[in-house]
This record gives sequence, C-alpha cells and structure tokens, in this order.
Amino acid sequence: MNSLKGKVAVVTGGTTGIGYAVSLKLREAGADVYACARHEKNFTNGIRYHELDVRKKESCRRLYEDIMAAHGHIDILAANAGIIADSMTEKMEEEEFDRVIETNLKGVFRMVRLIGPQMERQGGGAIVTVGSVVGEYGNIGQANYAASKAGIIGMSKSWAKEFARKGSPVRVNVVAPGYIMTDMLKGLPEHLLMKFVEKTMLKRLGRPEEVAEVIAFLVSDAASYVTGTVIDVNGGMRL
Ligand code: NDP
Repeated sequence: MNSLKGKVAVVTGGTTGIGYAVSLKLREAGADVYACARHEKNFTNGIRYHELDVRKKESCRRLYEDIMAAHGHIDILAANAGIIADSMTEKMEEEEFDRVIETNLKGVFRMVRLIGPQMERQGGGAIVTVGSVVGEYGNIGQANYAASKAGIIGMSKSWAKEFARKGSPVRVNVVAPGYIMTDMLKGLPEHLLMKFVEKTMLKRLGRPEEVAEVIAFLVSDAASYVTGTVIDVNGGMRL
C-alpha cells in the first residue's frame, strides 16, 4: 500500500458504508483521518470523528478551520456524503429534490470551495468526489439523485482544470460506484437488487472496501498523473 504518512485526510460521510471503508483504508496507509458526518461515532482505531452537516455552510467552515488550526494543511478530500430520496418524478416533492441536491451536489461544492484553494496554496492535494452509475446512465425514480451525481462529474472536471491552472498539482477525480452493499440499499426489495445484479458483468453487488481501494489509489502518489477522470467501480454495470 502507498504510504500516506504525514497527510491529513477529510472523509465526508466517513462514519458508515463506503465512507467508513475509505476512512479505514486511508488510516491503514498512515494518514491522519477525519471521518465527518452529522451523527457522532466513537472510533478506537485512530480515526477521528468531526461533526459535519454538508448542507450547512457554517458547519463546513467550522470543520475546515478546526483541521487547519490543528494541522495547517489538508492533503486529501474524499467528498463522499450522500443521500437518496427516491420517487417517480410526478410524485417527487420539490423538498425531496432540493434535499438531495443540497446534500449531494452543493455539499460537495461547499467542501471543495474551502479545501481546493487551500490545496493550491499549500502546493498540492488530491480530491475524490463520489458519483454513481446512476449519474452516468440515469435511473427510474431517481431524477433528483441522478441530477446530483451527473452534476458532480461536471463540477469535478471543472475543478481538475481550475486547480491545476497555476501549475499546482491538485488532482480531482470522480469514483462512480455501482450498487454497493451499505445502509443506502437497505430499503430496496430483493427482486430489484437481483435485477441490478443481472446488469453487472460480474453478477454480484459490490463491497464498500472495493470502492475504498480505488479511492485510496487515486489520493496516493501512485496516481500522480491521473486527474479529471471518472472511474467506474461497478462490476461492469450498464443500467
Ligand atoms: P450510507 O448511507 O451508508 O452513508 C452515508 C454517509 O453520509 C453517512 O456517514 C452519513 O452520516 C453521511 N451523511 C448524510 N448526510 C450528510 C450530511 N448532510 N452531512 C454530512 N454527512 C452526511 O451511504 P453509502 O456509503 O452507500 O454512500 C456513500 C456515497 O456513495 C454516497 O454519496 C452515495 O450516493 C454513493 N453511492 C452509493 C452507492 C451504493 O450502492 N451504496 C452506489 C453509488 C454511489 P450521517 O447520517 O451521520 O450524517
């Protein structure tokens, strides 16, 4: 594993599911990891919890300022926090649309707006945003979620250009998972999950650790020439 010793990493939504697998992986590689979310978690493995609600500008700023006061630099951002609020478009309330966009899309914007320029100032850093197979292909009942995840791809490609324009090695990439076994899938009926499995080449769902491996690679120096790209981690899925 590539060493991340001396690096400070922020993982939004880092307390459960894919985000927790990322926190663990980065910690194993030696980084100082802040797993950030709304609900507190106590870790005994060296991962630090910090409160964060990406829907609130002040909460994002507090996190940024606390970590900067403690370390003076932030080297890695895994912008992973995300939610779903599914329903057919005709029945989708504007509140449901806005809540998903506020969290998944604007939440990423808020974090990158603070941390991206800081990485430029300090002379480098790596950002990975978490998209979805749904942002690439669309999905019935997920217009709000698909919009947020497609938007993440456009924002991230823009940032890859923006933060590199002064010759600074700040890299920005998107990881787009397929269907991964986490709490997010809990509400889905078995027959629907099986339908998704059938659409993968590998004929199975993914594990959070399989996404974390790719994110850990992307934020490491092993990926020093990789930026502005979308990496699918979906078992060969086409929706
Ligand atoms: P989980 O529901 O397991 O975890 C979501 C995490 O986000 C939790 O830590 C949650 O903590 C945090 N979170 C939610 N809202 C906020 C908020 N407003 N501010 C800060 N943190 C928040 O989901 P997954 O691990 O499955 O998903 C992680 C990412 O991967 C998401 O962006 C999701 O869209 C994406 N993804 C997931 C797929 C899957 O199949 N599981 C497929 C494709 C993409 P708390 O509630 O305490 O705030």
